[in-house]
Amino acid sequence: MTTVPNHNLSDELLMGYAAGALPQAFDLVVASHVSLSPDSRARLDGLEALGGVLLTQSKGAELADGSFEQVMARINGASPEETEWTAPEADPVLPAPLRDAIGGGLGSVNWRPVGMGVKQAIVHDDENGTARLLSIPAGGEMPKHSHRGLELTLVLKGAFRDEDGRFARGDIEEAGEETHHTPIAEADEDCICLIATDARLKFDGLMARIAQPFIGI
Ligand code: ZN
Repeated sequence: MTTVPNHNLSDELLMGYAAGALPQAFDLVVASHVSLSPDSRARLDGLEALGGVLLTQSKGAELADGSFEQVMARINGASPEETEWTAPEADPVLPAPLRDAIGGGLGSVNWRPVGMGVKQAIVHDDENGTARLLSIPAGGEMPKHSHRGLELTLVLKGAFRDEDGRFARGDIEEAGEETHHTPIAEADEDCICLIATDARLKFDGLMARIAQPFIGI
């Protein structure tokens, strides 16, 4: 088995998060990811240490050629060792931002079955996006689909694989309109993910399309 590098957040989404510009559903996923990923935490600290100069510039005017790349190279060079890092939390599955949003730990999640052993719980929903917890049974498969917008998936427990590789706890997958995938939970453990979407998914299969209005994804 090959070692797959961690799947971390893109610079664009991390900057959007640092600027407080993300819709709340995506903000929750990024906050949860950053609390689990020393690498993303270090990059975020690098962004914040730059004092928002870049962010204020980018609001009004185009950046000088290459300056974005220079700043991001500095940020990406930051190492986790240089960053203040809090100890892992008591709840083994839900990170603190998610516990705050739910008002408790995993036992407080209001799961609803959506078929094939899959359960979901809506954590946040407004006109700009939806954040949901999804629990996929070990070995379970999500119907093959593509996306009308952005789908951000953070693994909290277990792991899944799709056309882009393997994703385990703390890993994040950004799937846009160009992504067509079939996430499959690994066989040894149920997989719990936190997923933000800003548009309905496009399922390939007829049965999934029929079920879609009832599931709301
Ligand atoms: Zn997807």
